[in-house]
Amino acid sequence: QRLLIPFGGGAPSAHHLGKAHLGGKGANLAEMAGIGLPVPPGFTIPTTLCALYYEAGARLPDALLAEMVGGLAHIETVAGMEFGSATNPLLVSVRSGARVSMPGMMDTVLNLGLNDSTVEGLASRSGNPRFAWDSYRRFIQMYGDVVLGLDHYLFEDALEILKDDKGATLDTQLTADDLKGLVAQYQAIVQKETGKPFPQDPRAQLEGAVGAVFGSWRSERAAVYRRLNDIPEDWGTAVTVQAMVFGNMGETSATGVAFTRNPATGERAIYGEYLINAQGEDVVAGIRTPQYLTLAAREQAGAKAASMEEAMPDVFAELARMFAQLELHYRDCQDIEFTVQEGKLWLLQTRSGKRTAKAALRMACEMVDEGLIQTDEAVLRVEASVLDQLLHPTLDPKAERKVLAVGLPASPGAASGAIVLDSETAHTRAATGEDVILVRLETSPEDIAGMHAARGILTARGGMTSHAAVVARGMGRPCVSGAGGISIDNDRRILRIGNRELPEGAIITLDGASGEVMEGRVATVEPELSGDFARLMIWADGHRRMKVRANAETPEDCTTARRFGAEGVGLARTEHMFFGADRIVHVRAMILGADETSRRAALAKLLPAQRADFEAIFRIMEGLPVTIRLLDPPLHEFLPQREAEMEEVAAETGLSVAAVKRRVADLHEANPMLGHRGCRLLISYPEIVEMQTRAIFEAALAVPGGVEPEVMVPLVATRRELEIVKAIIDRVAGEVFEAAGRSLTYHVGTMIELPRAALRAGEIAGAAEFFSFGTNDLTQTTLGISRDDAGRFLGEYVDAGIYPRDPFVSLDVEGVGELVQFAAERGKAARPALKLGICGEHGGDPATIDFCETQRLDYVSCSPWRVPIARLAAAQAAL
Ligand code: ADP
Ligand code: MG
Ligand code: MG
Repeated sequence: QRLLIPFGGGAPSAHHLGKAHLGGKGANLAEMAGIGLPVPPGFTIPTTLCALYYEAGARLPDALLAEMVGGLAHIETVAGMEFGSATNPLLVSVRSGARVSMPGMMDTVLNLGLNDSTVEGLASRSGNPRFAWDSYRRFIQMYGDVVLGLDHYLFEDALEILKDDKGATLDTQLTADDLKGLVAQYQAIVQKETGKPFPQDPRAQLEGAVGAVFGSWRSERAAVYRRLNDIPEDWGTAVTVQAMVFGNMGETSATGVAFTRNPATGERAIYGEYLINAQGEDVVAGIRTPQYLTLAAREQAGAKAASMEEAMPDVFAELARMFAQLELHYRDCQDIEFTVQEGKLWLLQTRSGKRTAKAALRMACEMVDEGLIQTDEAVLRVEASVLDQLLHPTLDPKAERKVLAVGLPASPGAASGAIVLDSETAHTRAATGEDVILVRLETSPEDIAGMHAARGILTARGGMTSHAAVVARGMGRPCVSGAGGISIDNDRRILRIGNRELPEGAIITLDGASGEVMEGRVATVEPELSGDFARLMIWADGHRRMKVRANAETPEDCTTARRFGAEGVGLARTEHMFFGADRIVHVRAMILGADETSRRAALAKLLPAQRADFEAIFRIMEGLPVTIRLLDPPLHEFLPQREAEMEEVAAETGLSVAAVKRRVADLHEANPMLGHRGCRLLISYPEIVEMQTRAIFEAALAVPGGVEPEVMVPLVATRRELEIVKAIIDRVAGEVFEAAGRSLTYHVGTMIELPRAALRAGEIAGAAEFFSFGTNDLTQTTLGISRDDAGRFLGEYVDAGIYPRDPFVSLDVEGVGELVQFAAERGKAARPALKLGICGEHGGDPATIDFCETQRLDYVSCSPWRVPIARLAAAQAAL
């Protein structure tokens, strides 16, 4: 296996080695070079070397050092320059690149190879001393920061002081001599801070930089990002060493970033920013305000500075041609970095462009219309979980807005919350359940945890492709960036907007779609679900096998579920209906009733209410299956707590208050979740089953369009339990049908939510027509972890890699999943027509849905709001 892979200058393209091996950046550079696009030559050290670097104690293996000589020779030949030469020096960049893009999380060093002698060579050869010294000062700062671990403020402060002295507002106003002086200062800083002179040997520089890039894989911020995005530590990063091209050679040079389509709206139009006479980092870092690429975008924004289309029409036309070529090749929207060196265009990176949910939908639909992709691919293009962004309210256009400032609409969505001025505070305040808006001058990768904790992000500086904007879009957080006229007083913890002062904690609202920053909380409206959304959903429905149902018991939830396309109710939790003000007292009377007679009296009062509940659900769900779970509460949830409640129950039951108190004490359970609940309760009090069954069937018969009720018995561990309850259901159903002179088809089944039930599924299927995996309880009982108490330690568990994700959010496929698999297999073997579904919280989680497809479940059931996500995820799982 080769330790490095060259690209460019006619080297055979090695992109087939893949992103896992070459990293996303390395693979795409090889691929672009391979299709004849102008890519500076270079070589990529594969991700596998990252582990070797750490194994060797954070040292580059000798074999790699030896191969790098050959790699450099390749670049030298193609570029016609020599690394370390005093007359014709080659400079390189050293770039990180993981398998998936981790924007800004790892390090890059540019202009490597400069020293006190090569800088002179670069100056005379280019005839542009200013450019040479500009590159050198950039190099010392980056190398100092990334490799030597020096604080970048040391350098930035020196630069600011110099600019002040010279009366310059922009870097570009500094002369060659100014920059030469700055280099001397920078070298003094390095000497002072490290006790050693700035390294002059280009090969030593290269070794240092490659090592530092590998080292940045384990940096704190990269580790946080990996955790948030489920990226395994052992993937490692690749390192790409590449000939430099220079956007800082004067007015005919530039650097920029672009998307082939608008990543916020999905519109098919080149979208991006560039800066004349600058290097790559300048655009992203928000040091100068970048200019628009297209005339249309500039005009729309009402900006003055010339767009690239106007300032460099020929290069822009070439860029547009290359973008078209890239889209055709990758058949997807690309996010591209480019540099123009004295009128010549170079591509430095391409990757699939991160996009908002709305943009993802529009792009997928338009690419189908353009014939670029088929509907199945369109379905795969939209990450199911991001639909969440579209299913939530946006700002009410009619609501009053007190606009404080307007910035760039960097990531859409509406968010209200308390101002917080740093990531720490965002994190701590959000942890208490408060909605916060993170407000920063500009964000850096260190802010990633705070951005995640915040509802929205506001920055004073930076463009649409700034760090804040890119990361916010990826996280689905609304973001307004580059809001001019705002400033932050960190000492007084105040956000200043114009002449207004807002203290930390004051409430503001952001509209990431318009860039507006508003005072206070602004009202919101329900989302629009037609257009591209509806089209994609229809395609998804055409590609999926599993049905999608909702967990719902109120008319509102059932209506939402149908609106979102649910194909039935997978779980109606009857106990949720018992908390209504008009019935809780009867429920309590039933529980606390001394004997069967008093329980029956209380149940008789509940019957009409329960029947009306079911009828309402059946009417909304007309023609669709509805699974109703019989009563399954840990009893303590219903017991009266307060004195007034006790008195109320006493009055209702005719017991004394003291007697009620005694009953409550009697019913106390040490561990209610594993106590007298589910079918155990139903077996103790068959009259509850009778009442609920009667309510179900009387309601079902009253609905003209017909329904197929599925009666579900909870918490079954043995077949006998199910048989006892089923016998009651069948008997009462018969009685109801006889009285009505009509009957209907119904089914009796059980939840599989105890490990014993999963293991004995073959037997249980003898009495059950369907299984519904209750994965909330099944996870609790399999892992022996109470969901309500898990918060204290589960985070630590996930961090330590004990469970890859929170097992209550995404099913523990290895453990709980194996029980599901057993139960499905054994159940089906005993009863081939057995219907299988899942109704836990997991039913709306795309990874779990994928697993359910592999187990050939018939349906997933999830919260009404997640139904569209589940429809899309089920289609993706089937494709
Ligand atoms: P990141 O992954 O953080 O984007 P990159 O490796 O892409 O880091 O580099 C950071 C910036 O430096 C980008 O703007 C990139 O275009 C620029 N850059 C990287 N390599 C070169 C090069 N060989 N010549 C000119 N600019 C470069
Ligand atoms: Mg990049
Ligand atoms: Mg349960």
